[in-house]
Amino acid sequence: MQIEIAIKRMQVFKFGGSILKDAGSIKKLGELLKSYEQEDLAIVVSAMGKTTNALEGVLDSYLSSDGLATEKFAAVKAYHQTVAADLFAEDDAIWVDLSDLLVEVEWILEDDVHDERPYLYDQIVCLGELLSSCIVAAYLNAEGLPVKWHDARGLLITDDQFTQAAVDLAASARRVADARAEREWLLTQGFIGGTIDNNSTTLGREGSDYSAALLTYFLDADALTLWKDVDGIYTGDPKLADPVERLEQLSYDEALAIIDAGAKVIHRKALHLLKEQKIPLRVRPFADWGDEGSLIG
Ligand code: ADP
Ligand code: ASP
Ligand code: MG
Repeated sequence: MQIEIAIKRMQVFKFGGSILKDAGSIKKLGELLKSYEQEDLAIVVSAMGKTTNALEGVLDSYLSSDGLATEKFAAVKAYHQTVAADLFAEDDAIWVDLSDLLVEVEWILEDDVHDERPYLYDQIVCLGELLSSCIVAAYLNAEGLPVKWHDARGLLITDDQFTQAAVDLAASARRVADARAEREWLLTQGFIGGTIDNNSTTLGREGSDYSAALLTYFLDADALTLWKDVDGIYTGDPKLADPVERLEQLSYDEALAIIDAGAKVIHRKALHLLKEQKIPLRVRPFADWGDEGSLIG
């Protein structure tokens, strides 16, 4: 008699800034992940809410010396501290981790401008993903989930084309393979990477989807799920007035055509990589976990 055993492989989940906005959404993320406790996952998170835009504002003030950089940075800091204060006790180790991350940018802002904008952009703006992932990982650990935080600057190795860095696929695949461990969920940041000489880089706005696709490919995972504030892919942007229809199943080319028509719902490079590697992509609503959303592939 032949016994068939279905071997379940890893899945990659990405959580974007559109759903990670406050302490409540991080608690909800914990509940969602508890229902996957028996599975093998890797997790990618973006910056919370509009943090990337806020950090771009800090950078612009720093470069133009308009005197507002410190005030704008204090708002970013306060936002994350408020979220953390809702989730952790006053003596939790997270506070040291957060201030270690914040101080890297504080040091830059205290100094005169010595470098070019693209380089400074990446050193400052990468903070959003680092802070959010640090908070999320610590919260999930406190909830007993097997998460291990990894700094994507040591996983996704890139060139030094700051703000639009290109990923070295071979070097990054090796780093990701080394980081993978049994019975532990790898959690890392989207959008950011690092050069071989330890400078932070970014992959272009909305690049977290691309990071998640790369990780899915490197980990040979079954599928990638982007958890979003929409319940799937529509024929047009559902936030705009025109009537649109949800597509429960579509091909990579159909999804690419929707993006070409202007829909900013998935990063183009992510879709190209998934198509090339024949990796299925799901877009599912964070608001309703029972809903399968849209399946591309
Ligand atoms: P994330 O935070 O995960 O990166 P995004 O904000 O980039 O999420 O993408 C989700 C948004 O994409 C939705 O809020 C929606 O308004 C918008 N969107 C634009 N076009 C479409 C489309 N064709 N189908 C679904 N959502 C779309
Ligand atoms: N946080 C980055 C951005 O807002 C990357 C991403 O969310 O995909 O562009
Ligand atoms: Mg996005």
